[in-house]
Amino acid sequence: MHADPDLARAIANDPQLWPDFLAICDCGGRLAGTESERRAFALINGIAEAATGITARSIPVPYGGWSVLRASLTLPGGATAPCQPLVRSVATPARGLVAEVIDLGRGTPEEFEAHHDEIGGRIVMVRHELMFAAGTIHRRRKYLAAVEAGAVGFLIVGPVPGRLVAGSSGRQEGPGIPAAGIAPETAAALRRTARGWPTARLLIESEERPAETHTLLFDLPGRSDNWILLSAHIDGHDGGESAMDNASGVAAMLAAARALAPRVATFRRGLRLALFSVEEWALTGSAQYVASLSASERRSIVLNVNLDSVGGSPALTALTSDFAGLEPFLLEVAEASGIALRTVRPLMQNSDHANFALAGIPALRLVAGFDDPNANLRYVLTPADTRDKVSAAELRQAATLAANIIAAAGMADDAQVAAWRHSTT
Ligand SMILES: [Zn+2]
Repeated sequence: MHADPDLARAIANDPQLWPDFLAICDCGGRLAGTESERRAFALINGIAEAATGITARSIPVPYGGWSVLRASLTLPGGATAPCQPLVRSVATPARGLVAEVIDLGRGTPEEFEAHHDEIGGRIVMVRHELMFAAGTIHRRRKYLAAVEAGAVGFLIVGPVPGRLVAGSSGRQEGPGIPAAGIAPETAAALRRTARGWPTARLLIESEERPAETHTLLFDLPGRSDNWILLSAHIDGHDGGESAMDNASGVAAMLAAARALAPRVATFRRGLRLALFSVEEWALTGSAQYVASLSASERRSIVLNVNLDSVGGSPALTALTSDFAGLEPFLLEVAEASGIALRTVRPLMQNSDHANFALAGIPALRLVAGFDDPNANLRYVLTPADTRDKVSAAELRQAATLAANIIAAAGMADDAQVAAWRHSTT
């Protein structure tokens, strides 16, 4: 296989890649439902239209809107600490939830089991983990374990001194327990003493109402009605720039699209760009999109390449969602492009590609810094996820690899495409 050197050259000489990234960061954290998200949609839509020469199809995405009016945590002794309610957390009673806080460390199933009889009626405290690592226990699993064991509240401790941590509770509608991210110093003030578990007061005042965002689609047709779908999510969290997660993926996608746009008409398959939102809300935008597709529309998408957090480390990994048959193809493209790539096979439901994979569509997530605890990706979901954690070279590399994967997938013969669906290599 040969990588088209013109693609790499176009991206290397793309004067817009870095300014696009900065402009997306300038929009702010892009929490769904905020002015910051709306500004980002308008900006990115304009850039994508210029890149492709076509007008977006905009699909409405109704979702359960939610916003925080007030949140705080009162520590033993009366001091107040900041906290960041997890997306879609239920509110506490108006005067707050007063309960003892039980520290379950990392929050492994073993820790939940060992303390099973002590959790009822208490607020569970666990640690946020590096998300991009094998064996990570997702926040959602810990939250559900806390609910299951009868906890009345949930605190998750961020990794960065002086900084809160954000994330989704995973709750859609209905009951739940108040849940918030806190800084490590706050956790230290909640440690167990000889007197027992400390008592805290968690206050979350929130508002829920139906809301609507959208998915933007740009179709660049090839020579058949089959598609390679390149996706990235626009939304993020309050408090920072959501720069790695996911201004990096959106900027890399736009650069790949600019480089590919003049070529796609000659490909056997077209390129569909999908810009999703409410990804940080339990992957809602992509879930609705995939659910809306007929069986034949699903079959027409031969591959989803999802760019999420592709800056923050020069090491790129493809999460191949149990589609082992994809791996030789990806490695071949990466080698031809002169880019080191690792593949990791288990399906990880940590971004929009999961919804495609669950629907039987070969899907991968390109992510930077996987399994590297020192990579800047450790700042994702904290206010320290800012532009200074990402380099232009990382964005160029991710855009180049994505563009080469799409070009090769666009030209691959049908037998090769069929092999991607296999669960063995
Ligand atoms: Zn993300």
